[in-house]
Amino acid sequence: MVKEGYELDIYKIDTKDKFNKNKILIILLIILSLILIGLVAINISKMIKSYKVYKGYEAQVISLKQEEEKRQEELEKEREAKLPKLTDEGKQNIENIYHSDTKRAFLTFDDGPSSVTPRILDTLKQENVKATFFVLGSNVKKKPDLVKRMYDEGHFIANHGYSHVYSQIYSSPQAVLDEYNSCNEEIKKAIGDNEYNSHLFRFPGGIAGGPYADLKQQANDLLMQNDIVHVDWNALNGDAETNNLSVDFEIQRLNETTENKNSVVILMHDSPLKSVTADALPQIIETLRNKGYEFKNFYEIIK
Ligand SMILES: [Zn+2]
Repeated sequence: MVKEGYELDIYKIDTKDKFNKNKILIILLIILSLILIGLVAINISKMIKSYKVYKGYEAQVISLKQEEEKRQEELEKEREAKLPKLTDEGKQNIENIYHSDTKRAFLTFDDGPSSVTPRILDTLKQENVKATFFVLGSNVKKKPDLVKRMYDEGHFIANHGYSHVYSQIYSSPQAVLDEYNSCNEEIKKAIGDNEYNSHLFRFPGGIAGGPYADLKQQANDLLMQNDIVHVDWNALNGDAETNNLSVDFEIQRLNETTENKNSVVILMHDSPLKSVTADALPQIIETLRNKGYEFKNFYEIIK
């Protein structure tokens, strides 16, 4: 009996131990599982957070990209607006350049840019007047920054050929076109726009008369075939008429040549020896304003 009871006790103890061991194992397993679940949960939450940060970042990148695209589109629109386009309406406008119901004045400066040009640009800026510059390719090459400034400040850059040497430019109609093109190449480089073409030429010395009159007419036909129109002038400040220039003389010539004219294209020069024109410009603008003229440039003609 005793032996039996002893065996039973041992059995009981054994069973109890096994039971405890299993219990511990299960608890350990549960704890491990909980730790694992916890770790997984922490990682998932971290991933969600990273994902949200990534999404936020992505949204920021997209909106920055969109802003950049919009800015580029606006710049492209601005650039295109500054590229002269010669339409049929533009050609018609050129034909009627000296006719207008209202009083309008086109200030034009030939032969630049030069050391005189900055003062002219300063005055135009101060007076908020947009002008037209018939630049010479050979001078654009020397002072491209001034042409860029003209362009950036809203002035119309037109073409006066490359050399201004009559025997050279008027050697043939093709030579005139070549001079137009080489001047245009310099303008393109100066303003940094490879598509620029003013479509507007002024013959050195004007289209009419002189020993090259016939050749100029033939050259004009060739220019027109290439979508280039020309314009002379019907008023001036006399800065090419004398070596003894003065502000008074320029104002007098301006008054004489604009008399009884509604639409005036005024010939002036911004070549190195015409500093008096820069001196006279504030008064020239004032005189024209007092006569009721509104200032225009060729952007309003060639469009
Ligand atoms: Zn000239």
